[in-house]
Formats: sequence, C-alpha cells, structure tokens
Amino acid sequence: EFGISFDVYSRTTSKTHHELASEFFKTLYDKGEFIEKTSMQYYDEEAHQFLADRYITGECPHCHAEGAYGDQCEKCGTSLSPTDLINPKSAISGSQPVMRETKHWYLPLDKHEGWLREWILENHKEWRPNVYGQCKSWLDMGLQPRAVSRDLDWGIPVPVEGAEGKVLYVWFDAPIGYISNTKELLPDSWETWWKDPETR
Ligand SMILES: [Zn+2]
Repeated sequence: EFGISFDVYSRTTSKTHHELASEFFKTLYDKGEFIEKTSMQYYDEEAHQFLADRYITGECPHCHAEGAYGDQCEKCGTSLSPTDLINPKSAISGSQPVMRETKHWYLPLDKHEGWLREWILENHKEWRPNVYGQCKSWLDMGLQPRAVSRDLDWGIPVPVEGAEGKVLYVWFDAPIGYISNTKELLPDSWETWWKDPETR
C-alpha cells in the first residue's frame, strides 16, 4: 500500500551478517584494539547462565519497592546496578544468583575520542539536533571503554579461542547489519561503495 519494494531484504541472523560481523571483531582483535577485562557478574546456578541486568530483580535500595530491575527501579526511576538490589533474584529461575568471574573484550572508546569528536561535532552538524546533542553530551562526559561481548546462549559467537559461551554484544554487531545488507545487495562492490567519499 505504501508502494515500497525491496532491492534486498535481510536481517542480522543471516549467514552473510554472521561472517562479516565476525570479521570485524577478528580484524580489531588481531590489531590489538580490544582490552580484555575480567569482572564479577551475577550467575544463575539453576539456569546455568550469566544474568543480564534486566533479568535480576529485587528490592530497590532507595524506595524499597519490590521487583526493581538490575538496571533501574521502575517505581522511583533511579538507575541501579545489579549489586545495588537487596535480596536479588534471577527472573529466569527465581533462585538467588551468585557472583562469578567472567572475561570480556572492551573497545576503548576513550582512545578514539579525538577523531570521533571531530567527525561528529565538526563534520556532521547536519544530524538531527537530538542525535547530535546526545552524542555531544557523551563526548563531553568523556568516553569509556565498552564491552563488545557478553555471556549469552544466542547471538554471534566471539570468534577467538577461549570464548565459549560468549557472543558479540548487540550494539557492536547490529550496526554492521547495514554493511552486511549492502554486501548481499552488491556482492562485488559493497566495500568500494562504503569507502567512496562520494557515497551518500
Ligand atoms: Zn525505587
């Protein structure tokens, strides 16, 4: 009804995307661009998995409402981290999670702040004001290393040895979806298309 047709229709579950996202990770990994960090995270011993912040609930330390999430209390709006919760529970099995050590790879965004600042704030003033403003506030606060992997049983496996049970974090792999889609549309010329300064 909108008169839309597709030149290509794909998604981030495609084989092309898995291969390309793995390649991006491998390239950065081989260049030594990542930092490896070990941290303690909540683990559900009944469900045998690490728990994302949203999968941990408990009592809010501020307003004492029950059922606050590991990232936020919906009742009082306070941002939380999972260790702030009183009597934390796994939303998957209902059991009490334990702290367990886990290793992840981080992209040191702070190391790239210089060129990002110039590329965004100087060269992309045409971006929508809310997007531009959000980026500017992150840059002004100072960028931090950000994990590009996490412990999950679905997603694109981290393509290095010793990374069993770890997948690429969605913020890292999803934007690569735009590139893997063009790779499906233009199998031979996608790379020149992306790198051509005349491309709009
Ligand atoms: Zn609260």
